[in-house]
Amino acid sequence: MYRTIHINPVLPGQSRSSVLVIYTGGTLGMVYDRQNDQLVPFDFEQILDRVPEIRRLDFELTVVVLNELIDSSNMRPLNWIALARIIRENYDAYDSFVILHGTDTMAYTASALSFLLEGLYKPVILTGAQLPIGVARSDARENFITAMEIAAAQENGRPMVPEVCIYFNSLLLRGNRAKKKESVHFNAFQSENYPHLAMAGVNIEYNTPFIKPYRPQSKLTVYEEMDTHVVVLPLFPGINHQIISSILGIPGLKGMVLESYGSGNAPTETWFLNALESAIDRGLVIFNVSQCDGGRVTQGRYQTSKVLAEIGVLSGSDCTVEAAITKLMFLLANEPDPETLKKRLVTPICGEMSL
Ligand code: ASP
Repeated sequence: MYRTIHINPVLPGQSRSSVLVIYTGGTLGMVYDRQNDQLVPFDFEQILDRVPEIRRLDFELTVVVLNELIDSSNMRPLNWIALARIIRENYDAYDSFVILHGTDTMAYTASALSFLLEGLYKPVILTGAQLPIGVARSDARENFITAMEIAAAQENGRPMVPEVCIYFNSLLLRGNRAKKKESVHFNAFQSENYPHLAMAGVNIEYNTPFIKPYRPQSKLTVYEEMDTHVVVLPLFPGINHQIISSILGIPGLKGMVLESYGSGNAPTETWFLNALESAIDRGLVIFNVSQCDGGRVTQGRYQTSKVLAEIGVLSGSDCTVEAAITKLMFLLANEPDPETLKKRLVTPICGEMSL
């Protein structure tokens, strides 16, 4: 499944901590192949040639290179589970983890891992780049090096950020609060509804009150199931009965993230509400998040959202779509009791939503 490369610390003396880097693919690791005029994944054995600054880092570095390096548009729940397993297998041997990942679905992977790695108390930092490492102006070096610095950062022997995060373009964000917002500029990720956890400038400044507390007594439980019988439905003016009934009629469908307007509003037309209500009565779980990146769903604020609450649509509060769909997949697979599932869906599990 993967091969492991040990990169020896070059500095004399004892290294202060150990970081396991997991390379999954994406733009970061691309170099130009002149012969075939295309971008191809680079050979990680040559990391010290590409990023010689690594020699100056005072921690022990090991790189796991997945056999199949993928553009993150090809990420599937099976890949998330494979990553969670690698972390479990290496949890005792390393102090922290960095995942090199394509930017397109990085926020989904970060959200999924935050649910799959219950009781995590070591840093898991995802990063990537907008420009390949082989390009002179690439953002890959800074993102990679600072992500490793943050992963290795400790205070009194305690990790600074014992949770799943995304580091990109100077900002450290909680993984299940982040969103890819930009495909051209370097500031690709934002977290509208939660403060950043750190900012890297001349110094790395940690926003400690917002970082998950360190709890070494907690036990890591790695879940290995995600249920993909789910769908995301963004509302738009003009959505019609045929669209709604074909989506709600998908055989085996168990959960739906409804991307509603504003603070959780949806049409009040009878055909729409009746279709949703009868799907809920048949056991479909509908989780309401907003199309707005900032703010939250407040079902009941307007008449157009009050009715949703009345028919049993569950409020996703200020959850991102990425966190909402992965939470739904996680709970549908791992929470057998339907009533408990609904309660857990509307309650924060690992900082993915505020009430
Ligand atoms: N398509 C690429 C990916 O997500 C984009 C990137 O890495 O930035 O793998």
